Amino acid sequence: MFNDTPSGLATGWAEKAPGLPRIRLYYPVMAKEECARKMAILEDVRTAMAALMEIHNDEVEALLKEDFDAISELRRKLGAARANKAELIELYREHVETHGC
Ligand SMILES: [Zn+2]
Repeated sequence: MFNDTPSGLATGWAEKAPGLPRIRLYYPVMAKEECARKMAILEDVRTAMAALMEIHNDEVEALLKEDFDAISELRRKLGAARANKAELIELYREHVETHGC
């Protein structure tokens, strides 16, 4: 019940490092009759997760270039992206618990 759908966000580095596995985004297929608000929040969670994966892929690229300044900046971005994802997941949980959908 999972789509094998690549995020499409991390292009370029795979060609430079063909031996390394690429991080991919997986998400469950939801029924059409789901609550619209719930689906909208879930879409935001997916977007937040894709952003995280993009940062992780950028980290690999920076590491291959031994660009440690970039890695420090990416670590800061990762902290913000993780906080954003956690907030959205909490919003999703609150919605499901209060809306009963
Ligand atoms: Zn709902």
